[in-house]
Amino acid sequence: MPIALPQIPPFKTKVVEPVYFRTKEERRQKIQEVHYNLFNLHSDWVIVDLITDSGTGAMSEQQWAEVMLGDESYAGSESYFKLKQSIKDIMGFDYVTPTHQGRAAENILFSAVVREGHAIPGNAHFDTTKGHIEFRKAEAIDCTIQEAFDTEKYHPFKGNIDLEKLEEVIQQYGRERIPFINITVTCNTVGGQPVSMANIKATCQLAKRYEIPVYMDIARYAENAYFIKTREDSYHDWSIADIVKEMFAEVSVVWMSSKKDGLVNIGGFIALHDDELYNKLGQFTIIYEGFLTYGGMSGRAMGALAVGLREGIEFDYLDDRVKQVQYLADRLKEYNIPIQEPVGGHALYIDAKRMLPQIPQSEFPAQLLGVEMYIEGGVRGVEIGTLLADRDPITGKDRKPEMELLRLAIPRRVYSRNHMDYVAATLANVAERSASNQSGFRIKNQAEILRHFTVELEKI
Ligand SMILES: *Cc1c(COP(=O)(O)O)cnc(C)c1O
Repeated sequence: MPIALPQIPPFKTKVVEPVYFRTKEERRQKIQEVHYNLFNLHSDWVIVDLITDSGTGAMSEQQWAEVMLGDESYAGSESYFKLKQSIKDIMGFDYVTPTHQGRAAENILFSAVVREGHAIPGNAHFDTTKGHIEFRKAEAIDCTIQEAFDTEKYHPFKGNIDLEKLEEVIQQYGRERIPFINITVTCNTVGGQPVSMANIKATCQLAKRYEIPVYMDIARYAENAYFIKTREDSYHDWSIADIVKEMFAEVSVVWMSSKKDGLVNIGGFIALHDDELYNKLGQFTIIYEGFLTYGGMSGRAMGALAVGLREGIEFDYLDDRVKQVQYLADRLKEYNIPIQEPVGGHALYIDAKRMLPQIPQSEFPAQLLGVEMYIEGGVRGVEIGTLLADRDPITGKDRKPEMELLRLAIPRRVYSRNHMDYVAATLANVAERSASNQSGFRIKNQAEILRHFTVELEKI
């Protein structure tokens, strides 16, 4: 019997970036020096960096070739027209506004369409999206299905919108106060969970009945299309390209943080059908970002994105990516590390409450787990717990989130299976000596808002 050949990535290495090894003792001292804040580490002190998958991917040789061809003309850049053509071919939209990243797209788009008193329902909004809505004194309303919040329960599409909740919100606020419905694919805020095609279609149908346009926040649309192909029965035989077109068939406007499925290190855009709205956006593009044919991007960055978008919907690439995330999840389960399931497209989440049950939430157990993982193997993740949840603006007291999670986000095309084995072994060792951790941290210094980026901690 011939043995089955193992799955390998659809690429090989051409350029390498050095990694520096230090001893556990050196890391223990360094993390104390930077007040136990993982954001304060210089990256050369990190061996496997899983702090985010945003802008941290590796570009292909074709993308680097486009960097050399980048047209840096202020107006009418050839690279802009390449980007516009890619978006037309892949997504079907005629009008494109480039921006420097996703939140800049939100700033321009919402400046044009969101007003005080508006409500924007959808599945869980990303935090910058929510921020841009609330900054304009409008409401971001989460209509994600209830199953999304039950980490033990399997559901193939935990990013789905609860249509009953959505209709209630529409009736409560009235269609005049709802400028659009927002579908985020995949749904980052609930762990990179996908939205099914059936749910997208049903949401669009409901929206049509009330004459409300549907917009999409598409940072990870290609991973969403992959999950539709592999988890939704009627789409197994469809190509990713056809699924993507179908996802956008009834959507009026999309915006993208290209740092995710665009396979570039910086960039974003808004794409739409309506020339009138496009002209309105143009005024804001010019005051916030730059001229219409570059927005916030250089010509070479637009060229790299034009190619990255095409590579990002290749099945072999997506299959390798999603299976790498799953591979790490499987290794962790073998070591009995408690993770949230099913794992999404770009990251997995470790349950720190179950791993360090002796540490009270007031002592930041997920941060402690992150620090221990860093000391053990130089692996960097990010805390999604009490530090991130921050204080209640009214009482000034720490909020108590339901979960204490450590997120491991996997950069695109950067790490190998060896790295995943290394991360799993690191966590296994942390788990083995977890009982020796008898206390966590207290806060020495914190900023007024968004404290997790700069907070200074000390050991109790
Ligand atoms: C990352 C992200 C954004 C914001 O994009 P930036 O490029 O980080 O500004 C918005 N929405 C979603 C779903 C994202 O994942």
